[in-house]
Amino acid sequence: MGVAMASKRQARKCSGHRTDGQPCGAYAVNGARVCSAHGGQAPQVKAKAAGRIAEEQARKAVETYGLPRDISPTDALLEEVRYSAGHVAWLRARVAELEADSLVWGITEEAEKNATEFAGTDVTRSAAVNVWLDLYFRERKHLLDLTKTAISVGIEERRVRLAEAQGSLMNDVIRRILARLSLSPDQSALLPVVVPEELRRAAAMASAN
Ligand SMILES: [Zn+2]
Repeated sequence: MGVAMASKRQARKCSGHRTDGQPCGAYAVNGARVCSAHGGQAPQVKAKAAGRIAEEQARKAVETYGLPRDISPTDALLEEVRYSAGHVAWLRARVAELEADSLVWGITEEAEKNATEFAGTDVTRSAAVNVWLDLYFRERKHLLDLTKTAISVGIEERRVRLAEAQGSLMNDVIRRILARLSLSPDQSALLPVVVPEELRRAAAMASAN
């Protein structure tokens, strides 16, 4: 369905007319409204066509990532780059705090054993990737995909890198504030929810400006 619709859009007919006044009928140059015989190769027409194609690609990318639609596709992508860069920086700091052993080796099960003659707690340890490390890798992959997509749809690399830098900066501020607060375990347990939410909000505000 999607493929059929895409090819239909590309198969747009030229809006020019033949010398006898009839519609041209030829296929328009991709992204343009006219065929090459009717100015489809002119620099300004080609530039406009390229812009339309890039916008269409950005809109598709925004759909793929499930990003908010109330802003332009370009802004939505940059906002997500900012958010993701902030989240990656934050997760990187969490991972850095972990003991080396706990990165791949941790308690996966604890069971109270009272029925047997050797009462006590059975602790099962197994090799498994730490949750923080897993989140960190997944968010890094997401950020890399976003960055590649943003650049491939024509957003200049300079703007993408700037959005990444802003995201990291937001994370630094949040991290420094948290470090000075000496949170209780209960409060710390809220961080995985609160920090991503606030990073996303800050990314949205940065793109609104
Ligand atoms: Zn034509």
